[in-house]
Amino acid sequence: MSYTPLQLKTFHKASIYNKGDIEISEQCGCFYCEKTFPAKDVVKYIDKGRTGVCPLCDIDAVLPDATVTVTPELLSAMYWKWFVLRSSDGQETS
Ligand SMILES: [Zn+2]
Repeated sequence: MSYTPLQLKTFHKASIYNKGDIEISEQCGCFYCEKTFPAKDVVKYIDKGRTGVCPLCDIDAVLPDATVTVTPELLSAMYWKWFVLRSSDGQETS
């Protein structure tokens, strides 16, 4: 399973200003530490309280399952797209 850059960009939006989505989710995934956890574990918010922060790694990379189907493949793809490729000037090789 692979994702298009457009899909990944759409998923990334789910990690921003997502407090309302987290509150109606059962589970969330973090695409920095690539873990999943109960949505209620997200208790810290940034961006004036609008963006959830991962309870495990303290990074604002939380995807709520109300808007995104969180899978290990997705978290891995997102990690590469946003934390690996972007830090090396965005050259996409795959
Ligand atoms: Zn995390």
